[in-house]
Amino acid sequence: MARLILKPGKERSLLRRHPWVFAGSVAALDGRARAGDTVDVCTADGRVLARAAWSPASQIRARVWSFDPEVVIDHAFFKRKVAEAVARRAAHPLLVGQEGVRLIHGESDGLPGVIADRYGPVVVVQLTSAGADKWREAIVGALVQATGCVAVYERSDSEVRGLEGLPPVAGCVFGQLPEGPLTIVENGLTLEVDAVGGHKTGFYLDQRDNRLLTRHLAAGRRVLNCFCYTGGFSLQALAGGAAEVLSIDSSAPALAAAQRNLARNPALDAARAQWREDDVFQALRSLRAEGRKFDLIVLDPPKFAPSAAHAERAARAYKDINLLAFRLLDPGGILMTYSCSGGVGVELFQKIVAGAAVDAGVDARIIDRLSAAADHPVGLAVPEGEYLKGLACQIG
Ligand code: SAH
Repeated sequence: MARLILKPGKERSLLRRHPWVFAGSVAALDGRARAGDTVDVCTADGRVLARAAWSPASQIRARVWSFDPEVVIDHAFFKRKVAEAVARRAAHPLLVGQEGVRLIHGESDGLPGVIADRYGPVVVVQLTSAGADKWREAIVGALVQATGCVAVYERSDSEVRGLEGLPPVAGCVFGQLPEGPLTIVENGLTLEVDAVGGHKTGFYLDQRDNRLLTRHLAAGRRVLNCFCYTGGFSLQALAGGAAEVLSIDSSAPALAAAQRNLARNPALDAARAQWREDDVFQALRSLRAEGRKFDLIVLDPPKFAPSAAHAERAARAYKDINLLAFRLLDPGGILMTYSCSGGVGVELFQKIVAGAAVDAGVDARIIDRLSAAADHPVGLAVPEGEYLKGLACQIG
């Protein structure tokens, strides 16, 4: 097996169990390895620290499979790791009864570059690193065994694969997708998941708990749901007894899916729902011009800053929408606001929202700090990255 030799002193983050080796930390590759091959990661003086997947095209030159230098990385390894991850979710009290669950969360489950979401009888897998790509067959086989699913659909069409020198890949890798639309029941509501054409793996599971919070806060309130996608927050607001729910998204297919979702839940009062295809930045300004007011606003935008390099421009965009939203709230109104930008951390996000409140001339208090759902853990040594952060603020 080839050996990746670190530069002197570059073992520190690995000793804290951070699973990435950046290009700048690599002194040499001793031996031959192709993309995805397993290498031993060694200190400058030759001590083996970990076994990792080699990725020559990426700035993240290696991702650790195991900090046990004796472990063999083979089919049995993936069978074990996948089964462990699936068992962790099965044992989690907050996930009991959920039909949509993230089963494998990359680095957090010791499987860098592997995402697997279960939607009822189907598992959708996304492989974003050279190592994960190489072990596709083992990972898929292990998922089938651990879950008993009828189909595994691969959605490895994320742009980040380009950074690893991998082409986009999508399609069924096990079994056959069931006929007709795939649906899950999430906290009492039936929602469609488009595993083939939807965003990411088809659905935003990380917002499950926050959608439920909206339901608890919605009674009698006029709700505005910005960046509504397939209407998850909107439908929970209706279920919670919202007086009216206006939902905005720039994607016509997303809005069409949202309306199908509403029709799938006949207990909800569809007459209270309005849908608007628009750019949220524009729409918030038009709503102000129209003199509209709301009591609960949800802002769940796509990531504005994929990395720290985009943080400044992203901060301006977050400030803009949060300020506009605060201005649309009547006294006592609540803003539920989120960021999934890797380049904007929790503290910066809170500063931006606090600044927006000041500029909007409102007195806002945090009533809840929102984190990603229980099936979206963050590894102890792994930075937060693109994980969800959010705040619920109530104005005076
Ligand atoms: N809240 C949703 C997920 C939102 S994903 C849920 O719980 O499922 C982000 C959404 O923002 C996508 O549907 C995308 O179509 C939409 N979007 C992106 N940029 C936009 C813009 N400028 N104006 C309106 N919608 C936008």
